[in-house]
Amino acid sequence: MIIQPKTRGFICTTAHPEGCARQVEKQIEYVKAQKKISGPANVLVIGSSTGYGLASRIVAAVGAGANTVGVFFDKPAEGSRTASAGWYNTAGFEAQISESGVKSFNIVGDAFSNEIKTQTIDLIKSELGQVDLVVYSVASPRRTHPVTGETFTSVIKPIGASYSNKTLNFHTGEVSDVTIGPATEEEVKQTIAVMGGEDWKMWIDALREAGALADGATTVAYSYIGPEVTHAIYREGTIGKAKNDLERTALELNESLSAAGGRAFVSVNKALVTQSSSAIPVVPLYISALYRVMKDKDLHENCIEQMYRLFADRLYAEETAVDDKGLIRVDDWEMREDVQAEVDKRWKEIDSANIEQLADLEGYRSEFFQLFGFRADGVDYEADTDANVPMPNLRP
Ligand code: NAD
Repeated sequence: MIIQPKTRGFICTTAHPEGCARQVEKQIEYVKAQKKISGPANVLVIGSSTGYGLASRIVAAVGAGANTVGVFFDKPAEGSRTASAGWYNTAGFEAQISESGVKSFNIVGDAFSNEIKTQTIDLIKSELGQVDLVVYSVASPRRTHPVTGETFTSVIKPIGASYSNKTLNFHTGEVSDVTIGPATEEEVKQTIAVMGGEDWKMWIDALREAGALADGATTVAYSYIGPEVTHAIYREGTIGKAKNDLERTALELNESLSAAGGRAFVSVNKALVTQSSSAIPVVPLYISALYRVMKDKDLHENCIEQMYRLFADRLYAEETAVDDKGLIRVDDWEMREDVQAEVDKRWKEIDSANIEQLADLEGYRSEFFQLFGFRADGVDYEADTDANVPMPNLRP
């Protein structure tokens, strides 16, 4: 079929297999051009098919030569529907590392469930013995609790009072005002249940109990802090409460893993265009202004540069540098004073008429479409393309 982007609001309901594979290839090329990392040998990435999880897997496999197990929730093509981007990304990853000598396994399903945890642990035990790094990079709107069966939904809302600011429709370039009402207590609770640390801890406990976690293992999950302008909607809102919970969980896990020489971290990453971040009000406008400023200062990074820096300069450096709260900061360049001062200045002025000059609207759009394999270099989007791409190394 001819595969073109079909957007509905802030999601794209189609994905292009060759375009996704090309995007993954570019990430692999980047890592190949960097210094090798003396890092982990066997890595589990939970949420491995897109965004930061995918980039973590690529850095582990290509940069450190590690065997990887990827757990993700994506769908294959069916009838006239294409597969989801994460499916094609992972198939592209597999095709491109198949000759490299590292082992790779994929588990598709709900990471929050006991069933997927058990399948993953059985696979690790039979194929790799143990893992020495666990990356937790799940971003989901929903979670069904494996014990109570209750389904929680996360919301992105401020807490205590309504919040108004500018927001961007990146398809049209329109900058408008948005007001988001405050979350109820129940919504805060549910968001923490989805995006907080409980599931991460359940994974680590289950791996440890089964003997699938090596002594001295490291685990890392991802968080975001960001500037003042997004605090009400992000860091001090519902999602921020979930991130506080995730960060608390890291301290708890670090304490319990340290007995066997292990470590648990939260890494605070840079704001980037991913499927999750494009759904947050206000944030896409901030990201487009940030991209302009960081590109002008030659500081721009995407997921792959961020994750390479996380592995090479933090997790597997001689010493892992953390801030006063114990957090790894690879958002250091985003949060630099000169960067934030310039973004702030532009933020006050940005409107629909000057967005192209003051922000990187085109960069935002391109990256959004590239998430789904569109606008990739060297791909013929008019060509008849087979949407049915089998998943190599799919288990069980
Ligand atoms: P993403 O949407 O690109 O990736 C999410 C991954 O989770 C995908 O692989 C998806 O398949 C998987 N997933 C979702 N639900 C699942 C389920 N039930 N079972 C198994 N897998 C499931 O998201 P992202 O932006 O890369 O976010 C990853 C983490 O990084 C999140 O914790 C996020 O808060 C954090 N982060 C993101 C940004 C940003 O700007 N995008 C910045 C800093 C930190």
